[in-house]
Amino acid sequence: PKNFDLLRNPSLNKGTAFTIEEREQLGLSGLLPPKVHTIDEQVERILYNLRKKPTDMERYIFLTSLQDRNKTLFYRVLIDNIEDLMPIVYTPTVGQACLEYGQIFRRPRGIYITPNDSGKIADLLGNWPHKDIRVIVVTDGERILGLGDLGADGMGIPAGKLALYTACGGIHPSLSLPVTIDVGTNNETLLNDPLYIGMKHPRIRGQVYQDLVDEFIMAAQQVYPGVLIQFEDFANNNAFNFLQKYRDDICCFNDDIQGTASVTLAGLFSAMRITGGSLADQRFLFLGAGEAGIGTGDLAVSAMMEDGLSLEEARKRCWFVDSKGLIVKSREGLSGHKLDYAHDHEPITDFLAAVEALKPTAIIGVSGQPKRFNQAVVEAMSRINERPIIFSLSNPTSKAECTAEEAYNWSDGRAIFASGSPFDQVVYKGKKFLPAQGNNVYIFPGVGMGVMASRASQVTNEMFLAAARTVAKEVSETDLRIGRIFPPLPRIREVSLAIAVEVAEIAYRQGLASVSRPDNLEEYIAGLMYEPEYTSYV
Ligand code: NAP
Ligand code: MN
Repeated sequence: PKNFDLLRNPSLNKGTAFTIEEREQLGLSGLLPPKVHTIDEQVERILYNLRKKPTDMERYIFLTSLQDRNKTLFYRVLIDNIEDLMPIVYTPTVGQACLEYGQIFRRPRGIYITPNDSGKIADLLGNWPHKDIRVIVVTDGERILGLGDLGADGMGIPAGKLALYTACGGIHPSLSLPVTIDVGTNNETLLNDPLYIGMKHPRIRGQVYQDLVDEFIMAAQQVYPGVLIQFEDFANNNAFNFLQKYRDDICCFNDDIQGTASVTLAGLFSAMRITGGSLADQRFLFLGAGEAGIGTGDLAVSAMMEDGLSLEEARKRCWFVDSKGLIVKSREGLSGHKLDYAHDHEPITDFLAAVEALKPTAIIGVSGQPKRFNQAVVEAMSRINERPIIFSLSNPTSKAECTAEEAYNWSDGRAIFASGSPFDQVVYKGKKFLPAQGNNVYIFPGVGMGVMASRASQVTNEMFLAAARTVAKEVSETDLRIGRIFPPLPRIREVSLAIAVEVAEIAYRQGLASVSRPDNLEEYIAGLMYEPEYTSYV
């Protein structure tokens, strides 16, 4: 592109940072205000404006517009201020943004696929301007965070995840593509909203839906061979089915099942460093037996088996409460993935009663139901355990099973706490707690980078186990002392690099890599990581 187009192309635009030489040679003279700014000065301007915005939603809109205008500057700002800005580009604000997506719509992002496109999906993908795509995040918008069916408005999630792939994992922004498969929505509010951006009919299910997703998967392979596909925020049954159907044949994973499992397990490994216990000695009680819950149970079982337990023994360490109560053998009509965890026990419908009966060492909230870890539950956990492990992982913040403050207050400061969405520091009886976000953002960027670097043909269980161990290893003693069981967010690029190296290593070991192994894997991957810096055009 030349002159004016250059200023309109977010991948190339530098705004006021175009040098005098560039302005002269590219025909930009006179099109920009005279002062040439450094990127640092531009960052200052962005931060100044961000501070002035009255709400996080306004900050989200402002940052999204920056991303549409100047990607380099957007990523510079995001990476250098990751702790402050993660809650804007990701949970919880991204949740609010999805709820208002039609209202705040400005520029399109990613690819939308509808049943009308059946037979033509490869052409649609070919319309994307970048031809080398390595990572796709795809949703059908049916279970956006814990907010339910948001239809095409769910596009905010794949778009946000991919921004984090770049900011936290160093995957170049041109290598990724967000996709929304819009088969309608059952959300009445959206169907009645004139500003809704999606297909205005109830969700199409059955064969038409299955065929559309199949066609998308095949088309993605054809147009972008070897591309990594991340399934995101699909509803429960579809999530499990697609993962089962594709995981052995194509390079894919489900972030809600496997990413969440990995980050939760990382939190449990860290918690063991505090309690001195071992994973195999724990009793886990999950609130929620869906993608996140069962996914975590399955990965924890793999980890316990590495510690010497049998499959049966390991599964018996994991108990689940779903919308109908404790999952036990005598319950009828349990779906496939729950059966593995249906143990012998009398039925219990109440979560507190389940805590009292099972005496878990850890409770893990992945139900999307707010406030379920109430005072009585936390107090019971604190009576049973010297250091009760309490993870309220449901997103966004409004869905958290309990807040950080509640966990510390009700446990007399003894809880080992993590949450899916961020909480501010808590001071309890003069002691400062800085709880960490137990969020899969610690996992998927590094896994994606490792897969990309090795051109792995599959994403395996071993990779998620290794990612969990790596994250836990990156937590310092100082972190643990203030209750932080995940590494501080400003270190996330180092953590992702460490994960990427482990994941690529596994790809080579398991014979899944499609490129030859570089001598120094860590150096090689570090070299692939995108740094937002302006390149000279002259
Ligand atoms: P899901 O597959 O729909 O599963 C939800 C589970 O919660 C189901 O087992 C459901 O029971 C159960 N449930 C619903 N209402 C309940 C109630 N009143 N009492 C007890 N259990 C109840 O959803 P998911 O993908 O697992 O996600 C669940 C939550 O985890 C969401 O809020 C999501 O944001 C959060 N999450 C967090 C992270 C993170 O990184 N921190 C990652 C992924 C997901 P039935 O099986 O009986 O329907
Ligand atoms: Mn998700």
